[in-house]
Amino acid sequence: SNIDDWTRSDVYHNSFLIPADEALEYARKSSDEQGLPEIAVSTAQGKLLNLLARSIGAKRILEVGTLGGFSTIWLARALPEDGELVTLELQPKHAEVAQGDIAHAGLASRVKIIVGPAAESITKLQPEPPFDFAFIDADKPGNLTYFLEAKRLVRKNGVIIVDNVVRHGRVADPTQNDASSIGTRKLLEHLKTDKDVDATTISTVGEKGWDGFTYIIRL
Ligand code: SAM
Repeated sequence: SNIDDWTRSDVYHNSFLIPADEALEYARKSSDEQGLPEIAVSTAQGKLLNLLARSIGAKRILEVGTLGGFSTIWLARALPEDGELVTLELQPKHAEVAQGDIAHAGLASRVKIIVGPAAESITKLQPEPPFDFAFIDADKPGNLTYFLEAKRLVRKNGVIIVDNVVRHGRVADPTQNDASSIGTRKLLEHLKTDKDVDATTISTVGEKGWDGFTYIIRL
């Protein structure tokens, strides 16, 4: 199998399950046009994040890594009217594009973008009221820091999702020592002994190739 088959399969399933969506198409297009990298979650993955947040009735969501706001829109749509999503982004340009995309989707009142290094912004956040759900998808060397802070900020039985933990199998390949793979291995080593959480990695294939999410619950 290869990425063409995986993409065709994603498109096929999406054609039954995920209607065409003007606001999400606008977000992808404006991100492309303004030169942002094409590293947002896939449509099927965005919908999964939305469903997971709805499954636990999330009212407060934390996101680390906004890019153009594609995953932000999926997650913010899971919130009730009085819900809130806080998203952390290093690059002012990405935050500006995201702000436009989120406003276009009619979600500006529910989303707060904090610009700056997430390792700094996240330590300043207070857990009151705690977050129900966190999605970690920024620089991968920061994964352990972001996880530890998310754990501090998320309620009991809350959910933390970490993206890109498989990286085409590179994370499990000891001959691959890129900073992103090393950052994810550090998180996995930590999770092995962390008694405050329970977790599993689900590997995925699709239009973004072979990758995966680690799904963590706060005990
Ligand atoms: N979650 C987005 C989505 O699926 O639509 C994609 C996020 S993209 C994979 C990663 C983002 O993290 C980029 O916009 C990048 O600028 C941002 N980033 C990188 N290093 C960061 C840091 N130290 N603090 C905050 N954001 C960072």
